[in-house]
Amino acid sequence: MSSASSPQPPPSHATPIDGKALAAAVRADVTARVEKLAVAGRRPRLDAVLVGGDRSAELYAESQARTCGKVGIEYVLHRLPSDAGYKEIAGLVLLLNAEEDVRAVMLHLPLPAGVDTERIQSLIDPGKDVEGVNPANIGNVVYGRRSLVPCTALAVVEMIESTGIDLKGKRCVVVGASNIVGKPIAVLLMRAEATVVSTNKFTDDLPAIARDAEVLVAAAGVPQLVGADWVRPGAVVVDVGIHRVEDDAGARTIGDVRHDEVAPIAGHLSPVPGGVGPMTVAMLLRNCVEAAERV
Ligand code: NAD
Repeated sequence: MSSASSPQPPPSHATPIDGKALAAAVRADVTARVEKLAVAGRRPRLDAVLVGGDRSAELYAESQARTCGKVGIEYVLHRLPSDAGYKEIAGLVLLLNAEEDVRAVMLHLPLPAGVDTERIQSLIDPGKDVEGVNPANIGNVVYGRRSLVPCTALAVVEMIESTGIDLKGKRCVVVGASNIVGKPIAVLLMRAEATVVSTNKFTDDLPAIARDAEVLVAAAGVPQLVGADWVRPGAVVVDVGIHRVEDDAGARTIGDVRHDEVAPIAGHLSPVPGGVGPMTVAMLLRNCVEAAERV
């Protein structure tokens, strides 16, 4: 029998980690919890601060209002003019901290040039800081205390766990170490007792380090950085990158991973779009409910 006529085994292909489906399940849980709180007269509400008229921030606020509305969370947008300075923005944040009815606060970025974003973020009451941007909340994450955890980090770890992998002792490599994405992801993986390597743009021979990973998180913000030579066969790969590109193939969103190369090798792979993005939004909604439940 010639080998040409033998059936070839199908190329292996990673199971997609469906962020949209996972997010839908989170939203269903959130909706039920919102209704319970509403019956008790404590309907959750998200108070967002938007300074100036940045187009992306405006679009984000509009989509946030719609998303909150779908699960029954009220959305209040507090606007300040683009010439607002530190004192004015800090004053509004402190006012929201003091308001008993306000349970969840978030700050749209960017702030006007010259205003220290981290200084403003560190003013948000840690119990109302639903994006987890106050350094106090990062500290709580490190200590394993009950706290509001940055939404993207929560999304990534829940997506990894959705594959059924037991993280204890697993070799995890996180590519990218920003304060709001890469570092909290690494800490959450450490909390799950994984063996974690945090890498950044200065890490030598990153593909070789990544190839050892049973779980690989790509969060460098570099389009198409991770290729076939970075991935161990069967690994769980989560692509955090979001990049809007427009070329001959048209306008589309791509990630930090070359999906065409990695999908035949990985065991699980999160798509872009439809992966970490929708789950991050769902985690913000869940943080709003958790903040409201704590009263
Ligand atoms: P950032 O620029 O603040 O940090 C990037 C990190 O990656 C740094 O630690 C840097 O040292 C590292 N890095 C840069 N180039 C590298 C390279 N070549 N090799 C290894 N490490 C490298 O970015 P960020 O805010 O952490 O965002 C990262 C990505 O995640 C971006 O694409 C962003 O759009 C995306 N993001 C997605 C969501 C979501 O909801 N899916 C949320 C937040 C951020």
